Amino acid sequence: MESAFDWYKDAVFYELYVRAFSDSNNDGIGDLAGVTARLDYLQELGVNAIWLLPITNSPLRDDGYDVSDHYNLYPPYGSLDDFRLLVQEAHQRDLRIVVELVPNHTSDKHAWFQASCNPAHPEHTRYRDYYVWSDTDQLYTEARIIFLDYEKSNWTFHPQRNAYYWHRFFYHQPDLNFDNPEVQRRMMHVIQFWIDQGADGIRVDAPPYLYERDGTSCENLPETHAYLKHLRAFVDAYAPGTMLLSEANQWPEDVRPYFGDGDEMHMNFHFPLMPRIFMALAKADRTPIVDILSHTPSLPVKCQWGIFLRCHDELTLEMVSPDERCFIWDFYAPEPRMRLNLGIRRRLAPLLNNNPALIRVANSILLTFIGSPFLYYGDEIGMGDNIWLDDRVGLRTPMQWDASQNAGFSGAPSDQLYAPMIDEGQYDFRKVNVRQQNQDPDSLLNWTRRALGVRSQHPAFGRGSLTLLPVTNPSILVYLRQHHDEMLLILNNLSPSTVRFELSLPGLSQVDLVELFHSESHNYSRIPPNGFKLDGYGFSWYQVNHTISSNNLEF
Ligand code: MG
Ligand code: CA
Repeated sequence: MESAFDWYKDAVFYELYVRAFSDSNNDGIGDLAGVTARLDYLQELGVNAIWLLPITNSPLRDDGYDVSDHYNLYPPYGSLDDFRLLVQEAHQRDLRIVVELVPNHTSDKHAWFQASCNPAHPEHTRYRDYYVWSDTDQLYTEARIIFLDYEKSNWTFHPQRNAYYWHRFFYHQPDLNFDNPEVQRRMMHVIQFWIDQGADGIRVDAPPYLYERDGTSCENLPETHAYLKHLRAFVDAYAPGTMLLSEANQWPEDVRPYFGDGDEMHMNFHFPLMPRIFMALAKADRTPIVDILSHTPSLPVKCQWGIFLRCHDELTLEMVSPDERCFIWDFYAPEPRMRLNLGIRRRLAPLLNNNPALIRVANSILLTFIGSPFLYYGDEIGMGDNIWLDDRVGLRTPMQWDASQNAGFSGAPSDQLYAPMIDEGQYDFRKVNVRQQNQDPDSLLNWTRRALGVRSQHPAFGRGSLTLLPVTNPSILVYLRQHHDEMLLILNNLSPSTVRFELSLPGLSQVDLVELFHSESHNYSRIPPNGFKLDGYGFSWYQVNHTISSNNLEF
């Protein structure tokens, strides 16, 4: 039995927008009671944790990452009572709940900023130094501007305060001043508050930018790591087992410090792996995946990567070379409206041509590679996107539950939904929905359930080491996952053609290979001398029962 505090190492996460999932009161906006009503679906799907994108109150100029009240919900989502009920019902189903913390900045509509920017405000003295104010905009000039498309400077002048305030993101998101001990304590208090409401994990937004120091990039500063360690120590003492997940969209070796010595974040996303899975599938060549794995440092024992194929943001191509970016853009996003910033704003199924075998082999890699997988809501039924909606809204359309009006998402009049349903083409909700796929044994939904069911039986998927095995044909990606006595052999065919290939497991003359996934596929009493065969975009997951100690394995 592994420690219950390590639950995130075995977990499959499901990322969802409360707004987009299920609307219980028919106002056209999904809500927490709607999520609660769908928990049976998520339990049967086989996910273990639900990551709720921002739910606290906000003017929604940055999808809720512009928090205006850390202690109350965006009203259309419901009340804190609704949140506690969701947690209670989730826990009864062995589902955990992860919520967002946005420590770096707030909305300019936040009461703290309103008091800070206005010298005549009755609470001004208390909040004066909550934000980063300066008489000059010539400070921290070496910090890059992140949203280049929108902002000219990281400073904006505030006439009421007669000073500039610092913002690493939008001008309407002033940065909090972490040199102020009161701000440091406040952010701990916010975490404590959400743990008290029942949250099992906290996804910490944009951690690299907490502190500013002149003459630096103002990113990844030692002061920032010291604060994050402080935060972790607090969480470990207050509610051990609460998982901290951070987002640093950087190279794995640059993300590594955010794990500390196992005393900072429990989890970080592995951003550069994701575009390389798409590149490998486009080229039918495993090389990009092999390369990024060789640049992936090992982690402290309690730490874990989070991996994903798609998420709520664009498929970011920041972590590939300009040539690779052009290749991926041309291949996966031929139309300009499919692109956003340095990335692609499309869902999984449209990216992969709605090709069932291709979608499955991509998921086979996701579910068997190093780290804990994150599924994006709707991708388990192969939902489409709407590139005619602006920014990222096109991949944030309502969940498609059935073929009734508004796809069972909401009883509101269709023109009152927060975003239109996808109601034409091959992704029309009358063709792609949960109810229809429930009834089809060969649907992506039932495939995903089976895959998650198999995965949950084998701790090596979440906890094991990963060893790539050499295969002559570059379109074959093969690896072993090993944890204690368990050994799994994973075969993936990245090409559309049937491939035969030979494989040797040095040191293992006698093995039992038991296929875990396909009931119709072969089990072997030894590595087949004539080689394995995989159909185009085929895959196999084997359990290796070997008679010789794995210590004799040499690669
Ligand atoms: Mg509602
Ligand atoms: Ca900052």
